[in-house]
Amino acid sequence: MSIMAEPRTLTHWISGAAYAGAGKRYGDVYDPATGRVGALVPLAEREDVERAVDAASRAFPEWSRTSLGKRSEVFFAFRELLKAHADEFSHIISAEHGKPVSDAGGEIARGLEIVELACSLPLMLKGEFSEQVSRNVDVYSMHQPLGVCAGITPFNFPAMVPLWMFPVALACGNTFVLKPSERDPSASLLLAQLLREAGLPDGVFNVLHGDKAAVDALLDHPGVAAVSFVGSTPIAKYVYGRAAAAGKRVQALGGAKNHLVAMPDADLDAVADALTSAALGSTGQRCMAISVALAVGDMGDRLVPALRERMSRLKVGPGSDSGSEVGPLVSKDAKARVESLIGQGVREGAQLVLDGRGVSVPGHADGFFVGPTLFDRVGAEMEIYRQEIFGPVLVVMRVNSLDEALDIVERNPYGNGCSIFTTDGAAARRFERHASAGMVGINVPIPVPVGSYSFGGWKASLFGDQHIYGPEGFRFYTRSKVVTSRWHEVDRVGVNLRFPGGHS
Ligand code: NAD
Repeated sequence: MSIMAEPRTLTHWISGAAYAGAGKRYGDVYDPATGRVGALVPLAEREDVERAVDAASRAFPEWSRTSLGKRSEVFFAFRELLKAHADEFSHIISAEHGKPVSDAGGEIARGLEIVELACSLPLMLKGEFSEQVSRNVDVYSMHQPLGVCAGITPFNFPAMVPLWMFPVALACGNTFVLKPSERDPSASLLLAQLLREAGLPDGVFNVLHGDKAAVDALLDHPGVAAVSFVGSTPIAKYVYGRAAAAGKRVQALGGAKNHLVAMPDADLDAVADALTSAALGSTGQRCMAISVALAVGDMGDRLVPALRERMSRLKVGPGSDSGSEVGPLVSKDAKARVESLIGQGVREGAQLVLDGRGVSVPGHADGFFVGPTLFDRVGAEMEIYRQEIFGPVLVVMRVNSLDEALDIVERNPYGNGCSIFTTDGAAARRFERHASAGMVGINVPIPVPVGSYSFGGWKASLFGDQHIYGPEGFRFYTRSKVVTSRWHEVDRVGVNLRFPGGHS
């Protein structure tokens, strides 16, 4: 008889220490590969939210006064600690999210780019100066922190998405309350511990676990100045509306349906490899996953067999097994939803080329597995095209021309990322200029911008006007001030009621 370990009970992290929480509610954190509960996460009540915001508010005056050099020293130290703990993060993430350990390592690799950006905060926070705009008058600008910022993050990147937010927010002199996904909350606690070890003062970064109750209390709290949200579109829209109505600055990134246009001149193997990786990496649970292939002209006839061949070879298994390529979905509900959408695709007349339902993983009968699934001849009216499936399902649509493909991308309500594979420079240029999405790839399937640019979509993939991290992140987390100053030994200008301006 095997003895099953009792689930661990997690805590919040407030003022530099673990905090059990005042609430009585807990959420189950599953190991998606076994279907068993591995931990219990406390779900914050209003009282806990008060405590976290209060800690961040009290830490703000001192942190915002801290010199830029001292602030950046914390990020240099944090960078080393993140690198040293990268393996530990990968295992923690894989155990709660389900993705293979090797894939989870990518979260820290990409998150490090934003920490490195934060190291260069003295450069990013520079203002402008104009000397002598009028006689003895100079004008200059400065970027000041907002106060307490909140981050609300999704399950699919439990370390990387928080790392898109808090390094920039803290670099600007703000303090932060992170509300991570309650489905894989442990990575956020290790981030908090490492920040403390790196020298971040207590209260500057806090982790508050919870569900809708915690989110609503943060959105309404008068002590929170700004909210960054990443998650599904309906919740992004809700968060944007509620936080903006409470007078806060908001950026709310939503869901996606990302297209890849395969031109007839593209290299078949390169397209098939790219599509398989971009559709099935992380079991399709990436906001930048490619879930739609738009095969132009005769490309479809060659592409579908090449995809089928690659996708059917992939090994489905637990993330902890080094041979696994496709891990489980995050939850039982997610598995049921994806399987039901596959059934609907069949009923609506799409051609099911590869069916991942009922995949069997030896020793993991209760895991949340769905295997690679490929549909051909999908129409824009079908639910498998209309909905963000967020699973290992790739749909192929046949189109006659690049213009037809661009039109489909334009009419899709989402606009996160899209990509083209071609050897024709003119087609690539036409695509980059006309594709209606915030991030475009040319012979690159997942065009996630590097840390020195900003990440964000268009249409229903982003509510708000600033993208996340990069230069737009620095703008989001600061408010600018312009100073007009006159200094002169004897400078009596006399009374003058005219509006200041003109050249004097
Ligand atoms: P989700 O919207 O269910 O949850 C996101 C966050 O919102 C979580 O912290 C959750 O606790 C909270 N939340 C959930 N329901 C809520 C409610 N009713 N009221 C208030 N808060 C609520 O998203 P998810 O399932 O965790 O993540 C997957 C989604 O995130 C996908 O749609 C994916 O495309 C999207 N995503 C987008 C990006 C991007 O950059 N645009 C990046 C990653 C993920």
